[in-house]
Amino acid sequence: MSNTDFALAIEDLTVSFDGFKAIDSLNLYVDRNELRVIIGPNGAGKTTLLDLICGKTKAETGSIKFKNTELSRMAEYKRVRLGIGRKFQTPSIYENLTVFQNLEVSFPKGRSVMGALAFKCDDEVKARVQVVADDIFLADRLDLEAGLLSHGQKQWLEIGMLLMQSPELLLLDEPIAGMSARERDLTADLLKRISINRAVIVIEHDMDFVKRIAHKVNVMHQGKMLAEGPMEQVQADPRVIDVYLGH
Ligand code: ADP
Ligand code: MG
Repeated sequence: MSNTDFALAIEDLTVSFDGFKAIDSLNLYVDRNELRVIIGPNGAGKTTLLDLICGKTKAETGSIKFKNTELSRMAEYKRVRLGIGRKFQTPSIYENLTVFQNLEVSFPKGRSVMGALAFKCDDEVKARVQVVADDIFLADRLDLEAGLLSHGQKQWLEIGMLLMQSPELLLLDEPIAGMSARERDLTADLLKRISINRAVIVIEHDMDFVKRIAHKVNVMHQGKMLAEGPMEQVQADPRVIDVYLGH
């Protein structure tokens, strides 16, 4: 496969904070239609990697290509427009707006709250909100104030807000944190569904959850990729057991 076929191709990526290499000559290739999980001990550089892909942090050296377009010097908002959606560890939703309004303001035509509320809610937006609300198990909560949702439902809503933009690459940092067992089950189904026509990268610690969703797993350690492969292979790797799974 040539590099142009990947959704994401990262090569020789490096970034340092005060001389400490948080990401160190890292390579990563993710296919379209792939659900990739990244695991690894705290401080391995997982969140920093997502920051580099979405543009929150700028790379020092190396290349990040999204559908063969170089991203490493591109502004964050331009990466969003190209189709990259990023979910942070803590859900950032508008607590005082309803579920419907949260999804509505996330539709690309009106990104700011003011702009979107002034913008006429046409049938196109309503239809899109309905589809996404169904996807994220909140179709019967559309009129509820988002602040009243459970923590897990807030996580889903934030994923829904990203889905409103129809991203082709979705980056999710610990999406099941704070979820009940039932919410985790539903989220596994959700992630499998939304990776059918896009690339999804998930950072997660819960190994049972990882087993259920991952096509391939990458293990990060000290800013590098320590191992990559199917879950069974990675779990049996003595280096992985040593730095991560053995603890
Ligand atoms: P992980 O998500 O795998 O737990 P992080 O990517 O958050 O790891 O952090 C990797 C390392 O980089 C840690 O040692 C962390 O302290 C450091 N780091 C991350 N972001 C910054 C920053 N903005 N400034 C300084 N150090 C940072
Ligand atoms: Mg992290």
